[in-house]
Order: sequence, then structure tokens, then C-alpha cells
Amino acid sequence: MVQGKDIWVVVEHGRGRLKKSSLGLLTEGKRLVAKLGGSLCAVVIGQQVEGFIDTLAQYGAHKLFLLQDSQYEHYISEIYTDLLASLANEYHPGLIVLAATYQGKDLASRLAAHLNVGLASDCANWRFNNQGYLEYIRPVYGGKVYATEIYHSPFIQIFTMRPNVLDIDDPKDSSKPEIIPIKITLNHSIQRSTVLDFLPADPATIDLSEAEIIVAGGKGVGSAENFRLLKNLADLLGGSLGGSRVAVDSRWIPSERQVGQTGKIVGPRLYIACGISGAIQHLMGMKDSQRIIAINTDKNAPIFKIADVKIVGDLREVVPAICCRLRREKYETA
Ligand SMILES: Cc1cc2nc3c(=O)[nH]c(=O)nc-3n(C[C@H](O)[C@H](O)[C@H](O)COP(=O)(O)OP(=O)(O)OC[C@H]3O[C@@H](n4cnc5c(N)ncnc54)[C@H](O)[C@@H]3O)c2cc1C
Repeated sequence: MVQGKDIWVVVEHGRGRLKKSSLGLLTEGKRLVAKLGGSLCAVVIGQQVEGFIDTLAQYGAHKLFLLQDSQYEHYISEIYTDLLASLANEYHPGLIVLAATYQGKDLASRLAAHLNVGLASDCANWRFNNQGYLEYIRPVYGGKVYATEIYHSPFIQIFTMRPNVLDIDDPKDSSKPEIIPIKITLNHSIQRSTVLDFLPADPATIDLSEAEIIVAGGKGVGSAENFRLLKNLADLLGGSLGGSRVAVDSRWIPSERQVGQTGKIVGPRLYIACGISGAIQHLMGMKDSQRIIAINTDKNAPIFKIADVKIVGDLREVVPAICCRLRREKYETA
């Protein structure tokens, strides 16, 4: 049982900014602490992390473990795992929570193996059962069903949460958190990889839950052939292709590109929904997009209720027209 022990949120950051998913995890952490007791702790690893202290406290962290060193500048799996495992062995938290991002999934699985404890990965939710055990709820079989998992381990439990399902509480004025600076002597012999360079991610292959711009198509696209129109638009915008379950079932796009309740939960800056009606199961996956443009022939389509820009028209005419305009603008500014 994990009652009364501290709950750790492993914080992710990049380019001097905290990732939204980490703030969401702190909100989850507050809910867990309210049930389980203990303190909510943020664990931050990096070269320059002091600048995050106030924000993490405002989002609910009572205690901050700061692992700050030029050697921790880049995420290196072996090193970060070793640091976290040493810390966990010394401080014995009850729960360690990470976002199910590429980094979080990599780190959580290594850490669980290192500590020889259970890991519930890619959870959509959690709850307590009648015996007071924490149950982790996670989609399996491509999201067709949900599995409920329980760990009876008296030691640490680790779980990762899907990044875009997390609500984020508003920041609050907070009392000063307890700061625990940590110095761990690195065991360089375990390091097998080195960061040489950072290359921009390819929007065609990036995990949709991390995409900044998504052009998504539904049944209204009509054919795999017509999906090329959407691909042209995505390429011009530097965006990624997504779609509804109908588009996946019709084999116009691969299943990992499905958005919705049983697909990916996304949170891009811009979501362009083409020929998608806006069924509740689809909206569940994309309603938190910052800006939504919907293109649909039916002016009463439910998707228009949440769209910022509503275009009533045939996507086979509208999408090429937008592409034409974008190309012209690119040409004029080149
Ligand atoms: C348990 C469960 C889980 C589900 N999970 C998901 C999920 O994760 N993701 C998901 O998407 N769905 C999911 N669904 C299915 C969901 O209920 C809908 O059936 C699906 O989202 C509808 O897809 P659609 O919008 O592409 O098709 P439709 O609802 O058929 O809508 C097509 C739209 O295209 C418009 N249109 C037609 N021609 C054109 C044109 N030429 N130009 C512009 N617009 C045009 C139409 O007006 C219509 O609004 C799930 C269902 C269940 C029961």
C-alpha cells in the first residue's frame, strides 16, 4: 500500500519551459495526495532548473528535488534512470508518476525494471477500489477495451498518464516549497549513448499526441485518394495527418493516426477537421485543441459547435483553395 508516502511527479521540460503535461501531473498529484496523504514532490533534473521552482509550487508541489548539473543537460536514459533510482532508494516515495510521452515512457519502464517494481503505463485514469487499492485504468488492444490493473507491491508503484487527458488547475499563490538539492556522483560507466544533435521531428511520423498542427479527415473525405489533398495541406503547414475512426476503418490512414476516445487524445495548436461530423467519441480526443477549423458540407454538423472557424463547403474544393493560397503566400514572401 502506498498510503501516507510521498508522491513524486517527474517533471519534463525543454527549451527553458515546463511541459504542459507536467503541470497536469501535478494536478493529478494533488488529487492523489488528498486521498493518500503524504507530500506532493516534483523531481526536476536538468542543467538550469531553479527557474521552475515558483511555478511548480504554484501548481501544487510541496517539495522539490532539484538535480541540477551541467552533466544532466540532455535526457540520457541510462543516466536519468540511475539518478532517479538512487533518489528513490534513498527517499522511498509511494508513487512515482510520469507523463506517457516518449521520454516518460522510456524512463518509467527502465526505472521500474531497475527498482524491480510494477509499472502501469499509458493510463487514462485511476481510482480507488473498495479495499482501498489504487486501480490504474489503461486502454489496451489499440484502445478497443480498457484494462484495470492493481499492484499489491508494498514498495514503490510507478505509472505513466496519457499527456493530453490531464486537466490543469489554475496556479495559486503558495507557501514556499521545501527545496532539496541533490548531488549524485554519476556512474559514467553505465552511459551508452551521447546526444550529438537535435533534429526537428518529422510531422509525418511524430506521435499525434505531441503534434502541434493536425489536419484530420473523416468519412466525408470519401477515399484514400482524396486524403492526398489533406496530406498536401499538412505538408504546407508542417502538420501531421490524423483522422476519425471511420477513416481508419476504411484504411485511408493507419490506426495510430486515429483521434478520439479509442485513439489518440491530442492537444495541438491547430486542428483542422475535414469531413468529420463531430461524434462525441471523436470530440473527446481533440476538443482541447487550441484552435479548431472545421470544414463540412452540413451547416448543422456538431463539429461546428466547438470550431473557432467554420467553413461550410465541400472539402474537395475548400482544401485545395487553402493550399493554393498558402503556396501563393509562401511564394510572395520567399
Ligand atoms: C465505443 C466507441 C468508440 C469510438 N471511438 C472513436 C474514436 O476514437 N474516434 C472516432 O473518430 N470515432 C470513434 N467512434 C465512432 C464515432 O461514434 C463516429 O462513428 C465517428 O467518429 C464518425 O466519423 P466521421 O465523422 O468521419 O463520419 P460521419 O459521422 O459519417 O461524418 C462525416 C461528415 O462528413 C461530412 N461530409 C461529407 N462529405 C463531405 C465533403 N465532401 N466535404 C466536407 N464534409 C463532408 C458530412 O456532412 C458528415 O458531417 C467510436 C464509437 C464507439 C461506439
